[in-house]
Amino acid sequence: MSKVFITGASGFIAQHIVKLFIDNGYSVIGTVRSIEKGEALKTNLNVGDRFQYEIVAEISSPDAFDEALAKHSGVKYLLHTASPFFYDSTDPEHDLVIPAINGTKNVLNAIKKFRPEIEKVIITSSDAAIYSSVDEQNPALSFDETSWNNITYEEAIKDPIAAYYGAKSFAEKLAWKFLEDEKPSFKIISVNPVYVFGPQAFESEVKEKLNTSNELIHSLIKLGPNDTFDVDKGGFIDVRDVAKAHLAAVENDNLIGKRLYMTNGHFSTQMMVDILNKNFDNLRGKIPVGKPGTGSEDIKTLAKVSNRTTKKLLGWEFITLDKIVVDTVTQIQKVRSKL
Ligand code: NDP
Repeated sequence: MSKVFITGASGFIAQHIVKLFIDNGYSVIGTVRSIEKGEALKTNLNVGDRFQYEIVAEISSPDAFDEALAKHSGVKYLLHTASPFFYDSTDPEHDLVIPAINGTKNVLNAIKKFRPEIEKVIITSSDAAIYSSVDEQNPALSFDETSWNNITYEEAIKDPIAAYYGAKSFAEKLAWKFLEDEKPSFKIISVNPVYVFGPQAFESEVKEKLNTSNELIHSLIKLGPNDTFDVDKGGFIDVRDVAKAHLAAVENDNLIGKRLYMTNGHFSTQMMVDILNKNFDNLRGKIPVGKPGTGSEDIKTLAKVSNRTTKKLLGWEFITLDKIVVDTVTQIQKVRSKL
């Protein structure tokens, strides 16, 4: 049974990854910020010692991962998902940029010091490392797996959105540079998802406020019929496909050194509202309709993107926006109906 070490195991995406690896016969050691979060995940997984957790309360503290990694010999794969993902910050450099950079630095240094047996490191990066938030909204530009967000540190610390985009690009660049400079024995694969939506791995995770990306869908079903909503838009991908990409990165050697750009196209909030009104009798008349059918116009202002290489390498069809929205809201309603 191969051992996998995952940082930020209690996160939205990470819980799906942990569950998928357990289902595929791995044993998993995850870092979490508190005993409560570790115990909750242990209870939900219910697989005894095949899931163990270690507390890493702050990934940017000096040598944050040393103790946890020193304790667990025989780890073959490490998945680094922990990174702050929120925009509600008055000090974006401190809250977003520094933890992303130091967290990545700390985990790579800890592997070098304590776990030379690790063969692959999977970095959960982002489309934010592919383009800046400004370039993403420029229809004259095109991006693919080879593109980089070249935002500077000074530009990044100006506001929370720039900071998140900067943080993810600095952290991913740091990982590839570590490989070049330090020549460690492990290989790197990065997974670069766009907005990740989809149901929570466990119903107990359907809380009053969901994780940052799913809160976008959640906020739409909290609206009244006469409310207006912002036309948000961007790339979409299902969390189950993102988890599968992490498993593929571990299992398929032809993915070594690749950046897996995880997107299944563009969405706008209008498209989501249309899907909700079409599929949920109990929401129709209770949420807004907006301007039905105009979503395809909304997304024309976004940059062109191609992830042909990633799709070819992975070889499966990604989950559609309709299914993502329906599955996400079905789970929320199921949990709420039990309250
Ligand atoms: P979550 O916020 O649900 O998960 C993030 C995890 O990292 C949580 O376990 C969180 O712990 C932990 N974490 C964050 N900051 C720190 C810190 N300073 N010290 C210790 N632990 C920390 O987000 P997602 O699951 O959505 O995101 C996971 C990864 O995927 C991130 O790297 C994110 O950048 C990336 N990503 C996400 C996308 C999305 O749309 N969801 C899109 C593209 C990339 P806690 O919750 O206890 O604070």
